[in-house]
Amino acid sequence: MLTRKIKLWDINAHITCHLCNGYLIDATTVTECLHTFCRSCLVKYLEENNTCPTCRIVIHQSHPLQYIGHDRTMQDIVYKLVPGLQEAEIRKQREFYHKLGMDVPGDIKGETASSKQFLDSHPNGEIKTDDNFHRGTLEEKQEEGNDYHRSDEQVSICLECNSSKLRGLKRKWIRCSAQATVLHLKKFIAKKLKLSSFNELDILCNEEILGKDHTLKFVVVTRWRFKKAPLLLHYRPKMDLL
Ligand SMILES: [Zn+2]
Ligand SMILES: [Zn+2]
Repeated sequence: MLTRKIKLWDINAHITCHLCNGYLIDATTVTECLHTFCRSCLVKYLEENNTCPTCRIVIHQSHPLQYIGHDRTMQDIVYKLVPGLQEAEIRKQREFYHKLGMDVPGDIKGETASSKQFLDSHPNGEIKTDDNFHRGTLEEKQEEGNDYHRSDEQVSICLECNSSKLRGLKRKWIRCSAQATVLHLKKFIAKKLKLSSFNELDILCNEEILGKDHTLKFVVVTRWRFKKAPLLLHYRPKMDLL
């Protein structure tokens, strides 16, 4: 077998957090630009800022925390590459909880994320196979359990194309978290139809164009009300592109 030694020093820049200069802990990635930081460093930074600390892109005007997501792949890589880091982190967290006299949560009793790997790498719904989309739907509180919003309230949606300028989706029935936004759907459709930008799309409900920051929960409650599932949405190219 051919092996090649690589010095940790040479890859340090890729596995450290630019905010604390330590190895990434609880790696969390900005959905928009894919820069990664420790979760606690990034969350603290975003209390005062709404831009990415590395590239300064505006993450979101008012809710930047909704556009960052736990990056398990990156964290697994960091733990694999840096000997003893994971054990030290688990020890630190245990001590922290003991000091406060609290029970140690199950996920830091010593198991790693790998037992969940099978589940996450065998997604069952179409919507989950698109990694960018799926990253986009991540949100703060669900991250802890790595459940990628599976335990959120779900909405069933039928995505119907109402323009001859676009092809329809192969599978137009999807289920996703009620916390996903119209923007997530736009990105999903744009990716499936291989459009150059999600900005070329409008999504409509009852013939009304939906704002991109609306959550699907909001759309259901305000536009669909008591009608039966699935929520019927139409998509078409933006008017000025017709
Ligand atoms: Zn950090
Ligand atoms: Zn960035």
